[in-house]
Amino acid sequence: MNGYLEGLTGLTIHRHNELHVRSEVELKALFTKLAELGYTINDLRKDKHRLENRKWTPERMIELKISLWFAKLDVTRGKCGSCKNIIGFRAIQTHQHSCEICGEFTYIHVVDGGSIEFAFPRSATPIKLYTQRWDTDEGYLYLYPGFIDDHRGEMSQCFAENPTLWTEVTENGQKLIRVTKGYEWDASRDIHTYRTTGSIRNYTEVHFWRGVEYTTYGEPKLPVLQTINIHEDWHT
Ligand SMILES: [Zn+2]
Repeated sequence: MNGYLEGLTGLTIHRHNELHVRSEVELKALFTKLAELGYTINDLRKDKHRLENRKWTPERMIELKISLWFAKLDVTRGKCGSCKNIIGFRAIQTHQHSCEICGEFTYIHVVDGGSIEFAFPRSATPIKLYTQRWDTDEGYLYLYPGFIDDHRGEMSQCFAENPTLWTEVTENGQKLIRVTKGYEWDASRDIHTYRTTGSIRNYTEVHFWRGVEYTTYGEPKLPVLQTINIHEDWHT
């Protein structure tokens, strides 16, 4: 990081990403440099969480000697497993999300023959079944009948006690259990998912900065800090 801040004065880095600045002039120079490097800078004197939840006034923040600015680099991206292009990271790991360049899925959460452990709304009994598909448009999850593992008795009792929370359907001669699972989870209506197996991930997470790709683990890694807490050291 230091190399990228060359020419700036009055800075000391404490504990990895705590940057202390000695004067207002030096802070301005730092901000110009950080903006050039692609950082966005938030004024923590106006931070809602600090003001509303913690009830810290700007004066109190100074008294506490905590950071007053937060700089962040938006560099997390996906790399599509099919076309290998760098793509957006938002929602990349949601069921049937597709690559904006080649259109292939980046992630399939529920696969045919995978399994799911879940509970009905307002129930604590874990139920484990094999999955057939998740129709996110309709908001239904389709499962194969037949419980997996132990506690079959409890699981069938739970089905018997909640007849409105599932439906048996037959598709092409195959009996399936249909339960409610919306794309956006709604606690009052949807099953609560504990675990799924079989999910397919068709992307890797990377950092992409100034046209260069970096890994999020190992080498080559991003040569600058992704987040920086900035302190004003001239208040006494
Ligand atoms: Zn792609």
